[in-house]
Amino acid sequence: MSQKVEIYDTTLRDGAQGPRIKFSSEDQLRIVRALDDFGVHYIEGGQPGSNPKAAELFERTRDMKLKQAKMAAFGSTRHPRAAAEDDPNLKALLDAGTEVVTIFAKSSPLHAREVLRVTLEENLVIIEDSVEYLRSQKRRVFLDAEHFFDGYYEDSEYALTVLETGARAGAEILVLCDTNGGRLPWEIATAIRAVRARLPDTPVGIHTHNDAGCGVANTLSAIAEGAVQIQGTINGYGERTGNANLVTAIPAVQLKMGIAMVTPEQLAGLTHLSHLVAELANMSPRESDPFVGRDAFTHKGGMHADAVAKVKHSYEHINPSLVGNRTHISVSEVSGRSSLLQKAAEFGIDLERDTPQTRQILKRIKELENEGYEFEGADASLELLMRKATGRYRTFFTLHGFRTSVETRDARQPSLSEATVKLELPDGTKMHTAAEGEGPVDALNNALRKALQNTYPELKTVHLEDYKVRILDGQAGTRAKTRVLIESTDGEDSWDTVGVSENIISASYQALVDSIEYKLLRERGHEG
Ligand SMILES: [Zn+2]
Repeated sequence: MSQKVEIYDTTLRDGAQGPRIKFSSEDQLRIVRALDDFGVHYIEGGQPGSNPKAAELFERTRDMKLKQAKMAAFGSTRHPRAAAEDDPNLKALLDAGTEVVTIFAKSSPLHAREVLRVTLEENLVIIEDSVEYLRSQKRRVFLDAEHFFDGYYEDSEYALTVLETGARAGAEILVLCDTNGGRLPWEIATAIRAVRARLPDTPVGIHTHNDAGCGVANTLSAIAEGAVQIQGTINGYGERTGNANLVTAIPAVQLKMGIAMVTPEQLAGLTHLSHLVAELANMSPRESDPFVGRDAFTHKGGMHADAVAKVKHSYEHINPSLVGNRTHISVSEVSGRSSLLQKAAEFGIDLERDTPQTRQILKRIKELENEGYEFEGADASLELLMRKATGRYRTFFTLHGFRTSVETRDARQPSLSEATVKLELPDGTKMHTAAEGEGPVDALNNALRKALQNTYPELKTVHLEDYKVRILDGQAGTRAKTRVLIESTDGEDSWDTVGVSENIISASYQALVDSIEYKLLRERGHEG
């Protein structure tokens, strides 16, 4: 298809409106870099007129060497009672110093009359003035037609007149917004057809929200009708239920509609981009996310796993490597030998179907599962187990024990936790290290790292992302056990480990040690 579509990211403006989302200035810069690397065409940095942090971001990105992305400043049209050249908001937009300025205009009579409190005629003059003024100051102007679709279904003639006014005044593109996120794909399509019939020479873009669960569907519908710019956020972050999720929309447009927006190499960075932004937003990546989620290509149970092993695409809608993801096979009691072999292959370990070694590993997994281990959510522990069984393993440290203590002086105050570990390094050095922490597990984690990180500095980047505790029912005659699942990350990748014990601290300790061993094996290999 010859249609050229560009990506306009608004993670730093609309995305940052999301509940619980907050980016520091440093986070913002890292996101700008990552979006540029990925191949995003425009990055909306925020509203400099009302947000000093946005003004600062434009200041800091002005001299940044971006490969191709252009920063865009965002703001409103002029105030109803101010001349464009005296309007503080337009001035802030110009001061941002960006080549592209995006302004939003009311395109629904309801919003013009009731919210902006101007007549419909005045609204058109405001839009015309604002666009013309920004054009006269040599800016490229993108016009966001706010509430466009609601406006179109309220009074199509007026909504189209707003667009016409913007185009005549010099707006480069008319971005049609489903601001309340309540429209459905065919409503989007019908309205865009009308716009393109009326204004065949002005490009249109699409900006949707996900309130009806159609953010991405509406975006794709707009592209099918000829829209040439998609606006959205990474991971769909945004107010209420969020914006159109670019992480879903981009591969759908590129792989399914056949419209290339970024290079194949850049597209393969999608999973990384999604996880990086989640990390900076301090949100856990959603495992069920299309394309990039951990479960997006996970196959459970013997039969699917077997089929996927034979014909890769039999249960996969795309090749996961195209978006930087991979196939996961989840091993559990219900799955058969072929799942295990597949899992081993995923880890880069060759196992043959009918060898004593394979039987031995299967037997060991069964035993551990009976004790309460569950490897479905703990790939890294499973990989370690297979590595140990097949000799693809080496010892980075030998543990000689640990101790934790919790001291509470006043029940209303946080208690003080301390841990000590004793371990031995391969060169014979004995470490005996103590550390404090928020709770005994945190203290233990700190003590382990303190003992190891001079020898293995890569451990400094590792931190715990998630910690889950499950109390398992005691079976007849046994005491209840605790299963701990830990998710660790180094900012690039994340991995899960498991520990089981009658004691929560011991279970946590096993999972922590597995996590550290896994990281070291991956960084340094098993031949040292
Ligand atoms: Zn929006």
